Amino acid sequence: MNYAQVHPKKSLGQNFLKDENIARKIIASLNLKPGDCVLEIGSGTGILTKYLVQSATKVVGVEIDKNLVAQLLSQYSSATNFLLYQNDILKVSFKEILPGEQRWKAVANLPYHITSPVLFKLIEQRHFFESATLMVQQEVAQRMVAKPSTKAYGILSVFSQCYAETQILFDVSRHVFFPKPEVTSAVVRLEFNKPGLLNEYDEPVFRQVVRGTFNQRRKMLRNSLLAIPDLDLDLDKINFDLKQRPEQLSVSDFVELTKQIVRQISNLSYN
Ligand code: SAH
Repeated sequence: MNYAQVHPKKSLGQNFLKDENIARKIIASLNLKPGDCVLEIGSGTGILTKYLVQSATKVVGVEIDKNLVAQLLSQYSSATNFLLYQNDILKVSFKEILPGEQRWKAVANLPYHITSPVLFKLIEQRHFFESATLMVQQEVAQRMVAKPSTKAYGILSVFSQCYAETQILFDVSRHVFFPKPEVTSAVVRLEFNKPGLLNEYDEPVFRQVVRGTFNQRRKMLRNSLLAIPDLDLDLDKINFDLKQRPEQLSVSDFVELTKQIVRQISNLSYN
């Protein structure tokens, strides 16, 4: 790709990777085996696409930028294992674009402005995926792997660690992008192989509890829980130390608290 001909759009979070070594390092980390299928989010100028098409059995790309889609389609018109959708990753239906029974490997150099919503979508629909390998801002990567009682620990940490084994693979200098972003990046890997800690009834409550308490991070659980709309709780009946603040709770503490709350809600609706 001749970068002189590319006019990056800031509004689409376009910071194209231009270093082939980093691209190869990301691809190598995927450890692609025959039969592996890959979803690439934001194919862009195609620096990762090129290697994916060579080594994966199927590649599905989703790219929002019409011009880039047109370029990639003409470049890969003869590739039989590559499908590219011009669409917004936050709007696509994985059920429609990722056919078959197998679980896909997601990979992306994510547009930074939509990192969290994409991450939450992947986590929520993790049954489509074996893993997600994502380039994100280093600071976001650190939040994803942060431990309780640290400043970086929050909603992203709890969700990333509850549903996946999450690790930072390596940091990436801002100098390998065009245009250069303001900050250092990092590649993180989420492996969705964790046994589920929550059932389908617990899940929505878990999300409400984690979001609701961290949105009032400085408050004790006792107060932040009461402020969550729709959760009309009798806190005295909950067997949990509610004087704590959310950042003190491990992922399994949040799971335990959720289960207690669900028990109370379902008791109420039966009485
Ligand atoms: N993978 C490429 C591009 C990374 S830049 C590389 O490494 O060079 C991020 C890419 O995501 C851009 O191509 C941008 O157009 C695309 N993008 C931005 N918002 C998107 C969205 N909502 N859905 C799909 N793609 C998006």
